[in-house]
Amino acid sequence: MKPFRIPQLVYLLLLLYIIAALLFWGFSLQRQSRIIYEAELRALPLQTDSIRQPQVYAQKRALLETTRISRKKQYFGEGSTFLIIILIGAVVVYSSFRRSLRLSRQQTNFMLAVTHELKSPIAAIKLNLQTIERRKLSEEQQALMISRCITEANRLNDLCNNLLIASQLEGHQYQKAQEEVSFTDLVSDAVQDYHRRYPGRIMAQLAEDCAVTGDPLLLLMAVSNLLENAIKYSPAGSPVSVVLQCSTTEAVLEVTDEGVGVPEDEKSRIFEKFYRVGNENTRSAKGTGLGLYLTERILRQHKGRISVRNNLPRGSIFEIRLPAV
Ligand code: ADP
Repeated sequence: MKPFRIPQLVYLLLLLYIIAALLFWGFSLQRQSRIIYEAELRALPLQTDSIRQPQVYAQKRALLETTRISRKKQYFGEGSTFLIIILIGAVVVYSSFRRSLRLSRQQTNFMLAVTHELKSPIAAIKLNLQTIERRKLSEEQQALMISRCITEANRLNDLCNNLLIASQLEGHQYQKAQEEVSFTDLVSDAVQDYHRRYPGRIMAQLAEDCAVTGDPLLLLMAVSNLLENAIKYSPAGSPVSVVLQCSTTEAVLEVTDEGVGVPEDEKSRIFEKFYRVGNENTRSAKGTGLGLYLTERILRQHKGRISVRNNLPRGSIFEIRLPAV
């Protein structure tokens, strides 16, 4: 039996018990009300003579009937209100329970992913450096190994930055800079960085003199996360296009890839913390599920927004919009 199944069962049993108890007390009250009514009805001829005072008798009988009906309505009304409140409460508790369950599963996945993400670049760097140390390599081979080390070190660096900024933003400890930033230069720097790391993959078309207000480090992180994903979730060698357009009010950046794409029902969920499409065993690309969460958060802090749509015939287009200066 999976963990959390028992609490779910206990919760369900408790809920059923409460509802059954409510119904039981409802029926008991109705029965009691009927017994009272019948007793009062039997006692009525003793109080009022139906032959001598037929009108008074009829009035009293009608009053008894009205009281019985209003008692019935009252029990039914209060019982239904109580039942509705219980059901609403049950739904709220259950959905928050499921949310925390999902978060806890995602956190476990995240821990697995982070451990893997930290260990694999370290192992790769170690292996490359050991090879350089132990073998006599040509200059070309050495350069290749060093460049692999740098790539892995960059991955480690990106991961650490994401982790650090995520925890600082959540703890409201990050002092966000609020300065005029050349978005054109910032995107161009990120593109050049990825161009060095993945030669020939990125094609950029950037509007000139596009400026926004905000924190350059955070904005660079948001843009880098999109580039990283576009490369990571598309086949090696396939193109990634980066287009920056700027109007008097808005800067619009589109990162388009020809990769696996994002299924329709996952489009909103990929911005959740630790969320990754598929499950940990079936995911081939490395990751922690933190990048888009962070990107969305950064954009919100800059009064911007992010969205994703399908690229045709395959892949996805991530679009960010920021108020232009
Ligand atoms: P990570 O890449 O570390 O898993 P992200 O938060 O950056 O975490 O992305 C969340 C998920 O969204 C990824 O696991 C992936 O399934 C999906 N995703 C993100 N970008 C793309 C993309 N360009 N193409 C296809 N799927 C993507």
